[in-house]
Amino acid sequence: MPSGKPANDDATPLFAGPHHLSGRTLEVSSLVDLKLNDKEVILSFDDGPIPGRTDKVLAILDQFGVKGAFMMVGEMAEMHPALARKVAMEGNAIGSHTYDHANLTSLSFDAAMDEVLKGELAVTKATGTDVSFFRFPYLAESQRLRAAIAMRDMVVMDVDIDSKDYFTSTPLSVTQRTMNLLHKRGRGIVLMHDIHKRTARMLPTLLSKLEAEGYKVVTLKFKKPQVPNDLVASADFIATR
Ligand SMILES: [Zn+2]
Repeated sequence: MPSGKPANDDATPLFAGPHHLSGRTLEVSSLVDLKLNDKEVILSFDDGPIPGRTDKVLAILDQFGVKGAFMMVGEMAEMHPALARKVAMEGNAIGSHTYDHANLTSLSFDAAMDEVLKGELAVTKATGTDVSFFRFPYLAESQRLRAAIAMRDMVVMDVDIDSKDYFTSTPLSVTQRTMNLLHKRGRGIVLMHDIHKRTARMLPTLLSKLEAEGYKVVTLKFKKPQVPNDLVASADFIATR
């Protein structure tokens, strides 16, 4: 134990402002709009919401003046609707992540779509907002599912930078791994998990590092497409018939 430091593991250190980590707001209607410039990142958090952890992540994002994208599991949102609503009310992008974190590639197409829709409905109900983003659990996907989800006006969130925050490691090593990947790519969607206690613990270290290196956190917003995506798809279909 280092001397002179209180042994309070749960204390959230205060990172008093002013901060300059917040970047532009990017409005997307489909995946093609999701284009980041150099030194831009999107912070995404999967598998929540869960009391005592997601709210800590929210407090840290707020301290740094940035927003995230929360890919909620339907079942979790259903269990913790007040917290799910708080995530949405604070201006974060809301996505779903199936109803109970199923591996969709192990199900039939119809059963997989049922999972997707059940998850979307549960998150919509809990947050009181439209659910415009989707992430595949385990990143297990198929072309057919991807197309069907896009037709429902949901933007599939890919992962560019995996923080691997699910491994037991120190905040510094998670930050270093994430920064190394970012240095190679220059930009990207960072994957984290708000269900882990250690994610909130490492977040201030990561955000401080991003800020010190001049990165900007992009706020993601869904913009309803002028022409619904399914009409575009069916028009394409008719045109190519
Ligand atoms: Zn997940």
